[in-house]
Amino acid sequence: MDIAGKNIVITGGGRGLGKQFAVDLKNLGGKPYVVDVIQNDLDALKEETGIPGEILDVTDEEKIVDFFERFTETNGAPDVLINNAGITADHFFIIKSEDKIEKFPRSNWDKVIDINLTGVFLCGREAAYHMVKHGVKGVIINISSISKAGNLGQTNYAAAKSGLVAMTVTWAKELARHGVRAAAIAPGYILTDMVAKIEQRVLDKIASRIPAGRLGEMEEISRTAQYIIECDFFNGRVIEVDGGHRL
Ligand code: NDP
Repeated sequence: MDIAGKNIVITGGGRGLGKQFAVDLKNLGGKPYVVDVIQNDLDALKEETGIPGEILDVTDEEKIVDFFERFTETNGAPDVLINNAGITADHFFIIKSEDKIEKFPRSNWDKVIDINLTGVFLCGREAAYHMVKHGVKGVIINISSISKAGNLGQTNYAAAKSGLVAMTVTWAKELARHGVRAAAIAPGYILTDMVAKIEQRVLDKIASRIPAGRLGEMEEISRTAQYIIECDFFNGRVIEVDGGHRL
């Protein structure tokens, strides 16, 4: 698919990786539209780059259905959806100290599953519906993580990020008959603005565990999205971009 002129919806695009996708794809001639939960981030993005967006919580089914209806009516169906919104709420499964033993809180589980898995399901479903309805041969890109392999303190996040890969494969198999593709990217540790604020000493320790000897750049993940969009034969697979790091 040529990126130029294409409608590209990006969830959680107000900052971090999502913003990088939006900026880079706009520079390639695409028409990004960002949804996120903080108005200030959307305003700053619009002012800085001219990229439009609006508030949308990826856990709110009614608002998601309405958003994709309105978006399609105004712009045509999305050609690309990047399911990027995601959070962490880490906790060890069981923590035993001298005087007490703690369980993984149900609330941490629900928060992460709602946003990182159910949010992907809902936005993916609505985007696919409009793509198929309008005969748009689009692509859905789901952002997984190196943690899909299972990671300390991330029962919830690992479950969501691996579940999302299984959904990706399922959608690729089901939607191929309509010319719609689905793919995923599993980034390793990436130098986002937030990560860049971590003490250098800690960053060096993380980097020492990565065969590449450094964290990834946001631009390296966005170039991966560009490849997936452009290569029509790429379908139903996850690209791991992690500098060779395995958990
Ligand atoms: P950020 O926290 O910087 O960006 C995520 C964005 O999603 C934020 O703008 C956030 O809003 C938004 N968001 C949170 N909840 C919702 C919601 N319910 N509805 C809509 N938007 C929401 O994260 P990153 O850029 O670092 O990560 C982006 C994606 O990449 C995530 O899925 C993450 O799991 C994945 N990833 C990141 C890695 C990294 O090293 N950074 C490594 C592997 C995967 P708010 O500003 O309120 O937080």
